[in-house]
Amino acid sequence: MPKHIPQRTCIACRSVHSKRELLRIVRAPEGHVVADPTGKRNGRGTYVHKTRECFENVLGAPGKLQHALNLQTPIPPADLLALQNLVETFPATNMSGNAMNAQLSGARRAARKTTQTIKQAGADPNTPTG
Ligand SMILES: [Zn+2]
Repeated sequence: MPKHIPQRTCIACRSVHSKRELLRIVRAPEGHVVADPTGKRNGRGTYVHKTRECFENVLGAPGKLQHALNLQTPIPPADLLALQNLVETFPATNMSGNAMNAQLSGARRAARKTTQTIKQAGADPNTPTG
C-alpha cells in the first residue's frame, strides 16, 4: 500500500496537490499573514502553489487570501509585500509553450550569428595564404 500523502488545495488555481508542491501561508497573531515554509507554525493556514503564476494570482486579489484565512481585517500591505518578495525567488512561470520557444529561437539566432562571423573572418581576402 502506498503511504498516504496529504493533499491540499491551492487557493489560486483550486487544484489539489501534495503539500510539498505548495507553500503554506499562515495567519499570524494580530492580523498578520506570513509564509510558513516549514508548514509547522500554529494558526490557521492555507496553501498556494510555489509558482509565480499562482502567487501573483493571490497577491492580485488579496481578498481571496483574507477569506481563506478567515481574517476580519485586510491583509497588511507590508505582509503582502513580503510575500511578493518571496515570489521573486521562485522560478519563473512554467517554461511552456511560447515563452520557451521564444527563448530557444533567440539562442539559435545568436548561435547562427556567431557561426557566420567566424566564417566571414576565415574568408577574409586580405589574409595571406601560403
Ligand atoms: Zn495553484
